Amino acid sequence: MKLAVFKEEIDRRVAVVPSTIPKLKDLGLEILIEAGAGQEALYSDEEYQEQGAQVKSRSELLKEAEIAVSIHPLSEAEMKSLAKDTLVISQFQPFADAEITGKLKALGLRAFSLDMIPRTTLAQSMDVLSSMASIAGYKAILEAASLLPRYFPMMITAAGSIKPSKVLVLGAGVAGLQAIATARRLGAQVEAFDTRSAAKEEVLSLGAKFVEVEGAVEDKGAGGYGVQQSEEFIKRQRAEVQARAMKSDVIVTTAQVRGRKAPILVPKETVEKMKPGSVIVDLASSTGGNCELTEDLKVVQHNGVYILGNSSLASLMPQDASFLYSNNLLNFAKVWMKENQLNLDMENEIIASALITADKPA
Ligand code: NAD
Repeated sequence: MKLAVFKEEIDRRVAVVPSTIPKLKDLGLEILIEAGAGQEALYSDEEYQEQGAQVKSRSELLKEAEIAVSIHPLSEAEMKSLAKDTLVISQFQPFADAEITGKLKALGLRAFSLDMIPRTTLAQSMDVLSSMASIAGYKAILEAASLLPRYFPMMITAAGSIKPSKVLVLGAGVAGLQAIATARRLGAQVEAFDTRSAAKEEVLSLGAKFVEVEGAVEDKGAGGYGVQQSEEFIKRQRAEVQARAMKSDVIVTTAQVRGRKAPILVPKETVEKMKPGSVIVDLASSTGGNCELTEDLKVVQHNGVYILGNSSLASLMPQDASFLYSNNLLNFAKVWMKENQLNLDMENEIIASALITADKPA
């Protein structure tokens, strides 16, 4: 089967890196890659060829693909030009786009949405959301540290002593935990909030303080995800955040609720109470942001506070991000390639969750 890897149009990452190609070929896949697809992530066409991939143009890929792989979905016009029954693999975010499954079905395509792979131990090695969130959390702290006009660590120098910076992390999922770990490594004092009680132990194990706001709603049936909170809870949480924000140098926000707008945890009024020069990095910006003043993919300044809104910081570290994405994809391919054939076994929980175009039992 021909698996075609497309060049991303708005991202420096690439879905497959050269080192994965021999392993994908062992599964019975023939790999076609768009010329220049790995260039921005520092993987050359020659490296892909050396590992056994065929380098082709985008129009050739669209014509020949039996499986079409990309990080961001191809345009509707391009998907229209794919042969019927092509298996498209990308992140379609059906939770955020209710129309997408119907559109894909109408085009006669089958689609795996990698963001729908269950967050279970069994599927951990295929979890692109975790791989990318972890990079985003790390990068959020590096971006904040370089914008901050102060040191992160405590410094005792001949010229005077510097107090460590205070970092506040809102949402201690994968990105939040990596942000905490990175901030701690840089010597900052860290506090974190989450609505899931399970996050507490993880936060404490990283040497940060866990801030509890009573009355958070949890749902064991939500697949580990945080769920929507009452207006009353969010109000109390905002007050707690504000009290801490006034003393913080950096806030990293990652709080998301699947399929919904991100909760506003840092309203304008809180930003106005922060110290000038402080930095907010909002990783929830693509779903509206946790800060009221966030603008997606922009750095804005309000009363001397920088607010950086970016949900795709992983693309700023394209080489390792692509490497991890590619390995996740390979591990996923091992589930649906059997004896050199595509085997979409709907009894398999991972396939059944990710294959968004399949008819689900009522
Ligand atoms: P996410 O990006 O959906 O959300 C980030 C965090 O924000 C979550 O921890 C969520 O609880 C929190 N949040 C939501 N509303 C909030 C609020 N009002 N205030 C504070 N925090 C709030 O989360 P994610 O990083 O994608 O992780 C989702 C879940 O999946 C987590 O439970 C994580 O531990 C789990 N997970 C499990 C595995 C595995 O077992 N293999 C792998 C990865 C993730």
